[in-house]
Amino acid sequence: MQARNDALRWIQGLAKEHKNAAWIGAEQSAAKHAKDAKPFAIINPFNGEKICDVMESSREVVDQAAAAALHAFTSGPWPKWSRGDRVAALNKIAAEMRKHHHELAALETLCNGKTFRESFDDDIPEAASIFEYYAGWIDKIYGETCPVEKGFLNFTLREPVGPCGLIVPWNFPLLLACWKIAPALAMGNTVVVKPSPQTSLSMIRLAEIIHDAKILPPGVFNVVIGGVETGEALTRSNDIAKVSFTGGTDTGRFVMKGSAESNLKAVTLELGGKSPNIIFDDAKNLEAVIDRSYQAMFSHKGEKCSEPTRLIVHRSLHDKVVKGLVARAEKTRCGDPFAETTTQGPQCFEAHMRKILDYIESGKHEGATCVTGGTRDTSPGCEAGYFIRPTIFTGVKPEMRIFQEEIFGPVLAVTAFDTEEEAIKIANGTRYGLAAGLYTADADRAIRVAQKIDAGMVFVNRYGCYDFASPFGGFKQSGWGKEMAIHSLESYTRTKSVWFSVAPN
Ligand code: NAD
Repeated sequence: MQARNDALRWIQGLAKEHKNAAWIGAEQSAAKHAKDAKPFAIINPFNGEKICDVMESSREVVDQAAAAALHAFTSGPWPKWSRGDRVAALNKIAAEMRKHHHELAALETLCNGKTFRESFDDDIPEAASIFEYYAGWIDKIYGETCPVEKGFLNFTLREPVGPCGLIVPWNFPLLLACWKIAPALAMGNTVVVKPSPQTSLSMIRLAEIIHDAKILPPGVFNVVIGGVETGEALTRSNDIAKVSFTGGTDTGRFVMKGSAESNLKAVTLELGGKSPNIIFDDAKNLEAVIDRSYQAMFSHKGEKCSEPTRLIVHRSLHDKVVKGLVARAEKTRCGDPFAETTTQGPQCFEAHMRKILDYIESGKHEGATCVTGGTRDTSPGCEAGYFIRPTIFTGVKPEMRIFQEEIFGPVLAVTAFDTEEEAIKIANGTRYGLAAGLYTADADRAIRVAQKIDAGMVFVNRYGCYDFASPFGGFKQSGWGKEMAIHSLESYTRTKSVWFSVAPN
């Protein structure tokens, strides 16, 4: 396939020129730091073969990136740019991403394993569009005049926060980073982005694209590469004013700690989930409900934070719904994620696949019934990859690990309920509160249940709706703060109150 070959050619060039590392200021730092940098091997999850090494950024490299971002924020040309210049820059980034649509999608699929169709149709177009969305906000954010006592004029200014550390996971590598980069740049901040090392190639390529097209001044957009140590160094840097983090709940605690123990930087956390999907006995068009519940759960091979991993179905519909889901699961074709016929790619990396398999074993051990899947897929073409068949457990009790803990793979836990109260209790019974869905024809019930659900997003009669205009983010241990719409802009600005003393005449 042309897109894959183009991506592989670019990767070969990258390795030859030692350009597989951090972007700091206007250049890649690999050549300078290659000697002491630790390599991280990116493995193709489809065949277990090494794609290339990327050079991890040491603490020193992270400090340089943060210093470059601070310098660009305080003294470079960037703070002097007009609103119009910023609008043009964000639109240009979107246009360049579209120009490189095939190649960026191929890089996502090579490193993450999701199907090329998913990368091409979902990840890259959305990642490009968000720059246009936030370009449109640049001249629409303003302060207020406050109704203080006579003798004073008081107004607020909305200012950029400063250099922002943006740390993202591997499941939607470019997309989730762009959710942060676009609003941060729109408000005049500078950024240091840290992708997951396994999926860092698309971000390295985006940095190169932005650089080659001369879109931003040096130091405005920086990238560091690495895992825990690199992320921690960024979280603890005193030059960074804010960290926006998307990843696991337990890692989120370290991010908070790093912030607290350094300069108490502002923190936004988008964390894990274990989202419920309730199907009431009056749900309309059951086939469509089953279809959507399946899609929302198993697309991107179940590696999505807000997917409905806990299906809570009315006892009267239980068998019919499970039968429909199993039929869809058994039609799934694992295989080469670049092949048109493949509907599910491999899990992102081997340790993650093993973690999912351990969860499957724990479900069996705790007494749940595995009605489909439950194993690796080692059919012809899949032998060397990290494939797991779509797995459905029934008879799952709320206290079981597969019902409580985030698996982040293609494993669905189903439980039956009898009353509305019981469904709500089960739905709210985990430490997470990212998203929830409910299907019912009764509008009163829909509103009542939506109000009682303890989750940041509730989907009624269609699980999984996303739009840049609507806030995204969770409650409880699924995170703090919201992304999207004006909510992101609020988190990338600070409000200054300015007082004027006005003398009477
Ligand atoms: P992770 O927490 O292991 O890693 C996320 C990022 O943090 C990576 O870039 C990683 O290198 C970095 N990191 C790791 N340790 C760090 C530390 N001590 N300090 C700073 N950074 C550190 O998560 P993951 O396995 O990459 O991704 C899966 C998780 O992400 C799941 O829990 C999923 O639910 C969550 N997620 C949440 C959302 C959301 O919007 N709520 C979206 C996607 C994924």
